[in-house]
Amino acid sequence: MLPLLNYLNGHYQPAHNGRTLPVTEPATGQPYATLPDSAAPDVDQAVRAAEAALPAWRRRPAEERGRLLLRLSELITGHLDRLAQAESQDTGKPLSLARTLDIPRAASNFAFFGTLAQHFATETHLQEGLALNYTVRHPLGVVACISPWNLPLYLLTWKIAPALAAGCCVVAKPSELTPYTAHLLGELATAAGLPPGVLNVVHGTGARAGQALVEHPSIRGISFTGGTVTGRHIAAVAAPQLKKLSLELGGKNPTLVFADCDLAEAVQTSVRSAFANQGQICLCGSRILVERPIYEQFKTEFLAQVQELTVGDPLAEATRQGALVSEAHLHKVLSYIELAYREGGHLLAGGQRVQLPGRCAGGYFVQPTVFEGLGPECRVNQEEIFGPVVTLTPFDTEQQALAWANGTEYGLSAAVWTRDLARAHRLSHQLHAGVVWVNTWLHRDLRTPFGGMKSSGVGREGGLEALRFFTEAQNVCIKL
Ligand code: NAD
Repeated sequence: MLPLLNYLNGHYQPAHNGRTLPVTEPATGQPYATLPDSAAPDVDQAVRAAEAALPAWRRRPAEERGRLLLRLSELITGHLDRLAQAESQDTGKPLSLARTLDIPRAASNFAFFGTLAQHFATETHLQEGLALNYTVRHPLGVVACISPWNLPLYLLTWKIAPALAAGCCVVAKPSELTPYTAHLLGELATAAGLPPGVLNVVHGTGARAGQALVEHPSIRGISFTGGTVTGRHIAAVAAPQLKKLSLELGGKNPTLVFADCDLAEAVQTSVRSAFANQGQICLCGSRILVERPIYEQFKTEFLAQVQELTVGDPLAEATRQGALVSEAHLHKVLSYIELAYREGGHLLAGGQRVQLPGRCAGGYFVQPTVFEGLGPECRVNQEEIFGPVVTLTPFDTEQQALAWANGTEYGLSAAVWTRDLARAHRLSHQLHAGVVWVNTWLHRDLRTPFGGMKSSGVGREGGLEALRFFTEAQNVCIKL
């Protein structure tokens, strides 16, 4: 068993209570590591270390902080294979995906914010002849970064990097399901020269370690990515203490395919957006709405490409679909497949758990699954499944597609496939989605605001929005 440890004040250590939790490899169903079952004393130690490191860290020029983050970025790139291997083993995602998406993006996060902090200018407001106002953005202080299991290092560093760049010190709480790369990050942070206490990683459950972190009175801001139910709970805990909150939550994203689109590209990208990371990306398009004149052709080509998605050992190069993250999640996804039948859905592809031979015999694999014949109001089209299950639905008018696209409690992302520029603009502005892609998907520019509307979240990450979140604006007014 690999013992994963907390990273506190620049050192690795177990939980104060000595307790551990098993970490399971989703591809085998076997435990392979343990993580500390941390509680309030561990969180308190981490927060105190961060508080002690804060005065010196916030005083450093942005350029110096940035240089350390750039060094950390280089170290992540230098350890690409080891980190990708760890991420794949921990999550069940194909190694090829971890190597090309997760880990390179973690390196980019540090490189991007390490540089951006130097371009973070403050504003001045001149009242002619009366006064000059200028705004100072102070680091918020000690902040919590809490992340989910689907893109472990990618999302954790998307929070840590801007927090550190802005001059905050961090206590990070990765998902208890996928702690491995966050554990390795401590070692790289030390090697990069981050001063002890600037970054601390506390492992454990949400209910114990996460809750203690959110409740801690010295935490000034919480950047959280995870489920909507958890986000609501964290908001309720944090509100009486008036903590600053950024909540990136669930989604049920629509893909709108119009008859005038480039069909080949729309099909290929929609297959990817439906099933990348086994459908376990918050931005995956799980409700695919297709204009009726091309519905049958889209369906035929879509299903042909779905058949080619090889489900297999995540460590094998040919694997396109790995395992779901946990046994509990496997059963949740299978229960939605059952529900789809009960709601009158007609199965077009998949629908079964996959039993692989050998090493992966106990793994949590599900075939990429496609249903049609389900109305926009049914639960399968309303609730977040967060797995490889999607629906195809024909539509007749733009207004109908828009109403269905907007007809859920969520509003994270949407994709629109059309060659009609006017329609692309018109629809984009009317879609309830924090991110709209036109003729593309998961095309990310780290400078852009990222976040959801409605039950998909509050606040925006990315670019200057993230630096604004991790700072507090102060206005200084000088009489002229
Ligand atoms: P989750 O809400 O169960 O857990 C997320 C994190 O919160 C974990 O680290 C967990 O330990 C912690 N946590 C749980 N209870 C807590 C509490 N009481 N106090 C503090 N922390 C607590 O989510 P998950 O199952 O890990 O992730 C899947 C969800 O994340 C999906 O809904 C998905 O859509 C969402 N997600 C959203 C985005 C986005 O950018 N909007 C990105 C990725 C995933």
